[in-house]
Amino acid sequence: MTAMVLLGPPGAGKGTQATRIAEKLSIPAISTGEIFRANMSEGTEIGLQAKAFIDRGEFVPDSVTNAMVKARLSAPDTANGFLLDGYPRNVEQAHVLADMCEEVGIKLDLVLEIQVDEDEVVTRMMKRAEEQHRTDDTEPVMRHRLEVYHQQTEPVAAYYADHDLLQVVDGSGSIDEVTERIFTVLNSVAKN
Ligand code: ADP
Repeated sequence: MTAMVLLGPPGAGKGTQATRIAEKLSIPAISTGEIFRANMSEGTEIGLQAKAFIDRGEFVPDSVTNAMVKARLSAPDTANGFLLDGYPRNVEQAHVLADMCEEVGIKLDLVLEIQVDEDEVVTRMMKRAEEQHRTDDTEPVMRHRLEVYHQQTEPVAAYYADHDLLQVVDGSGSIDEVTERIFTVLNSVAKN
């Protein structure tokens, strides 16, 4: 059983690394951004509620996001644990996650923060914009998402540091280099 959270700014490569970690630990990678995008392309109620916020680079309201995560975490594939990518993104969501875990008797094992400097993150997002055409990967929206990250999500890292759950990994360099650093951390945590 491993319950994990992955933190990092937009463009840090969380999605790619989340897939690799999930495979290694045989747990599902749950990306709130991905779930929102799937809902938007299917035109569901959640998708309709989320779209305007996402396209502006704002957070989807906590009421929508928390309910969605709660439903997702009650699916049977989380019996062995889960890796959350993109949640919690503010301290309020971190409190809600703590309550959800307590209700089902789970303890978070680890929060991993991928740190990448701002210039690198912008370069990566610009590249992704060319490849994926995400509606929120335009430059002003990207800059706004970074700002929101500093304001709302960096305090989440501090919150988990206070709870002795935070491990920081350098996210610069190649995808494989970052994976190797992450796996080193996972192995050392597993031994303790
Ligand atoms: P990135 O990591 O590149 O910012 P994501 O795919 O994780 O992209 O998220 C895309 C967008 O989805 C966010 O900018 C936000 O609008 C919305 N979103 C994702 N997760 C959350 C969350 N936990 N709370 C609120 N909004 C969220």
